[in-house]
Amino acid sequence: MLLEPSTPVLLPHGLFDEDGRCHRQGELRPLTGREEWALAQAGERPGPRAVSELLAACLGRLGDYPRVDAELAACLTRGDRHHLALHLRARMYGDRVTLVARCPAPGCEAMADVEVRLSALSPERVDDAPEVLAVALPEGRAEVREPTGEDDALLAEARGTRAERAALLWSRLVVVDGQALSPSTWLSLPSRSRHAVALTLAEGSSAPDLGLLARCPKCSAWLELELDPFALLARELRGGAARLETEVHVLAYHYHWSEGDILALPRTRRWRYLELLRNELEGRPLVDGWS
Ligand SMILES: [Zn+2]
Repeated sequence: MLLEPSTPVLLPHGLFDEDGRCHRQGELRPLTGREEWALAQAGERPGPRAVSELLAACLGRLGDYPRVDAELAACLTRGDRHHLALHLRARMYGDRVTLVARCPAPGCEAMADVEVRLSALSPERVDDAPEVLAVALPEGRAEVREPTGEDDALLAEARGTRAERAALLWSRLVVVDGQALSPSTWLSLPSRSRHAVALTLAEGSSAPDLGLLARCPKCSAWLELELDPFALLARELRGGAARLETEVHVLAYHYHWSEGDILALPRTRRWRYLELLRNELEGRPLVDGWS
């Protein structure tokens, strides 16, 4: 098979191994038809485990790790996973995206277009991020780490109220004086201490800032929205799912390739074969200068 080249991608945070070494330099392969189809079927908001499967399929090596499976992809920070999703999206559909949001002002409800450049949301970060962030609390020295895909997966499957689930997440992210916390120990900390930890993480995070602000074109009210890169990619792929089916049909019909073989191709390869096929069927030269 003619392989598409991988693109290098530098993760904002990276994966720390047991020796404390950070692995940030990854290789991103384009999505194949199989991953396009899987993500298109993954619903409005693809779950953390579906995201890990997707990243495992398109991440080549990462630092000294020769390959990335779903388990390793789950260990990446939420921010690194979002960074990768933004790269995947930019590679398939370009760097610019127009989001549409409804104005929240009472009686207005105008629709506003919000233009975003994905590369500006997640610029390349040259300096290494620390593995954990430290903050001195009256209760002791706290260390907080960024949430990972695994945290998000456990959170998605956890029961309880929003507050209980938040406490579960913080109990996983924070240690005080080297001691792990339970959700109830986290909640028993004074709110000033919990706030200090949350602020340390918010300010020290290497994750892309996906909060967007725009003005309503009608009443000039501020609109706030949060970009979910995987939901964006899934929505766009869902819009192209019927076309993907048609591509499989046309290539299978003319080349007699199997569905699996065709879905193993990234979009650029499928589109190239469709272009050659069209030239052939229309009696045009397949390659410029040939007849
Ligand atoms: Zn408005």
